[in-house]
Amino acid sequence: MKYRTIPKFIIKRNMQKSAQTGIYFDYLITDNILSHICVEVTGTQNYEAEFVENDYSDEFLEAKYNQGRLAILQYHNTVTYISFSDEKCEGRNSGIQSVPTAFNRFYSNAHEDKEIYFYFLPCSGNNASPYYLFMYRLMKTAGFNFLNIPSSLIGHITPFTSIDDIIHERKENRDRNSGNNATYIIKNSPNEYEIFGKTYGANKYDTSLICYAISKLVQPEDKVTLYEYNEKNLRELPAASLAVLRSMGNINIVNINDELERRELEESDSLRSPRFNARLLDRLGERHCVLCNCAISEIIQGAHIWPVSDIKRMVTLTFDEKLEYATDGENGLWMCQNHHKMFDTNILFLSTAGEVSYSADLTSEDKEYIDSITTVTNLPASLITPRYIKYIGRRYSL
Ligand SMILES: [Zn+2]
Repeated sequence: MKYRTIPKFIIKRNMQKSAQTGIYFDYLITDNILSHICVEVTGTQNYEAEFVENDYSDEFLEAKYNQGRLAILQYHNTVTYISFSDEKCEGRNSGIQSVPTAFNRFYSNAHEDKEIYFYFLPCSGNNASPYYLFMYRLMKTAGFNFLNIPSSLIGHITPFTSIDDIIHERKENRDRNSGNNATYIIKNSPNEYEIFGKTYGANKYDTSLICYAISKLVQPEDKVTLYEYNEKNLRELPAASLAVLRSMGNINIVNINDELERRELEESDSLRSPRFNARLLDRLGERHCVLCNCAISEIIQGAHIWPVSDIKRMVTLTFDEKLEYATDGENGLWMCQNHHKMFDTNILFLSTAGEVSYSADLTSEDKEYIDSITTVTNLPASLITPRYIKYIGRRYSL
């Protein structure tokens, strides 16, 4: 990069769909905006700006449209990447869809003296919702600086301090009993975390950002695994995101595919199948015991209704059929370790209607104890599906 005594912006004019929308960056990014950015980033007022076409390329820009909604600002030896919010903030994350792309370009560029900023353009929806704030905090954690923060968010875009901090924030804003989230972060033991991230559609933006933030917070003693979850076509995160994660080097990336699941079923009876867990998250949402609502991540497990050991003994089933039943999200419930153990040892039963009952052999003292920790006596109606009923039937058939 050339040493520059006057700050210089270089900005690709074309967005991916400019030809259809008629919206180009030289319309959106006015002199006022550039001048504001220049003062904030460099402390000086004079600047040069050049809007370039798709065929332009240099060490920061490829001969393509504007990927990542970026402006490149060069001053002295420093290059600053500025990513602009989308004009539309209607959908869950439509306002920040370009952010992972911007970050990928920034992170993978070899220039040493570099910074990345986010600039809020006027937008048609609410870009200050709790969901967006969570995303901005992830961005801050990953290394973004923020310009022109909306007044309602001033003082709130703080970086997360640990992976647990992210998990806590998620719990505070949790939507229980629904699998709406694109990404789930699970803590299994003090230093062991699993990220279940959907990799299709808009979900891949959430998953990428969460992983970039977590990667910044991983401690040497931590073991973090990203399970890439894609029910539709088994595809992974975009190659550029995977390349960044691999170069960060502290998150183990596992794609949930058929081969992995076959091996799990062959080798293990207890079946810690990633696909089963991903499907439970998708169907039941954040992990909490279905019988006591306990949500302490380290003690919540995916309990099979029709046990895997029984499925594996079925001589009438093909291996693929066994795999299907063993990983079916409707063949499972979240339970705390206490309730899982009582369910598996027939101290506690579930009926096809979802009613909870206990073994007749219990002492009144034990029954009283189980009563005290079992706050749910009937499963929610939404869980009583035809397949749930079928699996309960199989569980108790001899
Ligand atoms: Zn429980």
